[in-house]
This record gives sequence, C-alpha cells and structure tokens, in this order.
Amino acid sequence: MEIDPLPPLREVIREHGLQAKKSFGQNFLLDLNLTRKIARTAGELSNSDIYEVGPGPGGLTRALLMEGAASVTAVEMDKRCIPALKQVSEAFDNRLNIVEGDAVKVCELDLLPDNNRDKRIVANLPYNVGTLLLIKWLTLDTWTPWYKSLTLMFQKEVAERIVANPGSKAYGRLSVLAQWRGRPRIAMTVPASAFTPPPKVDSAIIHFEPAEPFAPDVKLKDLELVVEKAFGQRRKMLRASLKSLPVDVKTLLESASLAETARAETLSVADYVRLAKCYRELMV
Ligand code: SAM
Repeated sequence: MEIDPLPPLREVIREHGLQAKKSFGQNFLLDLNLTRKIARTAGELSNSDIYEVGPGPGGLTRALLMEGAASVTAVEMDKRCIPALKQVSEAFDNRLNIVEGDAVKVCELDLLPDNNRDKRIVANLPYNVGTLLLIKWLTLDTWTPWYKSLTLMFQKEVAERIVANPGSKAYGRLSVLAQWRGRPRIAMTVPASAFTPPPKVDSAIIHFEPAEPFAPDVKLKDLELVVEKAFGQRRKMLRASLKSLPVDVKTLLESASLAETARAETLSVADYVRLAKCYRELMV
C-alpha cells in the first residue's frame, strides 16, 4: 500500500480552479478513506488495468493507484482537470494515462494497454450519462466482454433498479439487461453528504461481474425488443403490451409458456429470454 504523495484534494481544487460544474455532472469525492474503500471493492488491483470515466480532480484515481492498480486509464471531458491529473500521473510513476474526451464515444480497447492483465472499469459516474455508459458496457457485441468487472457509482434509485427482483416496483428493463449479462450487487451505499457539492439524493456502488451467456442463441436485439414492449406498458397484461410485435401474440405467449394475463414485472429474466427466443422462431 502506498502513501499519498499529493496535496489534499480541496487544495488541488482551489489551486486549479476546479469548482464543480453541473453540466459535467460533477459531484466530487474528497475523502480518501472512502475512495480507497471503493477501489478495494473492485477486486485484485495489482494485476489489473483500470479504466476510469471522469477522474475529475483525481480522488478515486489516486485511491486506485494507492491501492496498487497496475495502471489507470482515465477519460475526462473537462479540460480544466487535465493539469491536476498530470500531477497525479507524475506522482505515481506515470501509471496514470490521461485521455481528454467523451467516454460515451471512445472505444475503450483502443486506449487500454494491450497485455494479459485483467481489465476493470471503476468510476464515480457523471449522473447524466451513467445509465447510458452502463448500457454501452452491457450491450457489447462480444460476450463475455473484455472487462472482468464493473464497479460503478449510481444514484441509489438507479442502483436499486439494476439489482431489482421480479415483482418489485424497481424491476424493469435495466434489471433484465444487467441480470441477463451477469451478477450485479450493491456493494455499498454512499450518502449525498459524502460528495462535494452534495447531490439531492444518495448514491450506491454497483459491483458487476459478467457471466457466460446462459442462452447464447438469444439475440440481444430480440431480448431488448420484447423487454421494451412489455415494460413500455408495464401495468397492462402481456397480451396487450406485446400487441405491436409483428407476430401473433397468443401464439408467442403460448410457445413461451407464459400466461396472456401476466404483467411485465412478474416475468423472470429466464422468462424474458424464452420470450425472445420464441419471438425469433416465429419471425423466421
Ligand atoms: N471521479 C471524480 C470523483 O470521484 O471525485 C469525479 C466524479 S464526477 C461525479 C464525474 C466526472 O465525470 C466529472 O469529472 C466530469 O467532468 C466527468 N464527465 C462528465 N461527462 C463525461 C463524459 N461524457 N466523458 C468523460 N468524463 C465525463
């Protein structure tokens, strides 16, 4: 474990004029004990190259390096942060690779070192693009994906949707997608007061490890379509909510062994996988 060689984050923020901007979704974590705890949640770091979105003034980045990450590649959109991050890189033997850019658009594999080390994504995500990025990482063409784990901060309400079970109010498209792709869990909750400035709501860290596809023959686009239709009208029975699919709904539900009167939130992930499979069979 390394000692922090850099000035406190409040000083870094003052020195570089990094007052948080709402447009960038900036809510900084300044408590190194907390960021180190988040870094440890990500797993074994010494054999891992970390991909971080939005390092900001570098709190979580420093924690990852102090906890022994082999390297950190960090994509930051706010150019004001780059000089402060360069100081972090120098203090940690250039194990930090800084990329100025938009994480929604980049191809992560073009930025990460090409070696046999594990790749892990760790980020205190900007709230305005958090879900978009999660969907980007859950819908990669190649599965299992290039990363070994995701350790991500979300608004607590979003984190609850990701891990929600059938039958609960929070269960929806994001739950089905995430739980089809792997095993998400809430690793810790983080109160709004832990951030500077504090956001309106509490947050939570999701840790996710991808699983082997449990039905490799199911197409992602079919699954997304049936899930979208079902939850698009979540209070309606499936015979009504799936009506706009270009197949006979009665036959579809019968072949998937689902009741016409069932509602979106009562179906398990396995039910949705079966539904997507039967939909494809009827379409060919
Ligand atoms: N990691 C820092 C921390 O924990 O204190 C900052 C987290 S802050 C919630 C989100 C960061 O993401 C900000 O630094 C913001 O500038 C950056 N950001 C926002 N949108 C981005 C995008 N599309 N691509 C890359 N970085 C982005």
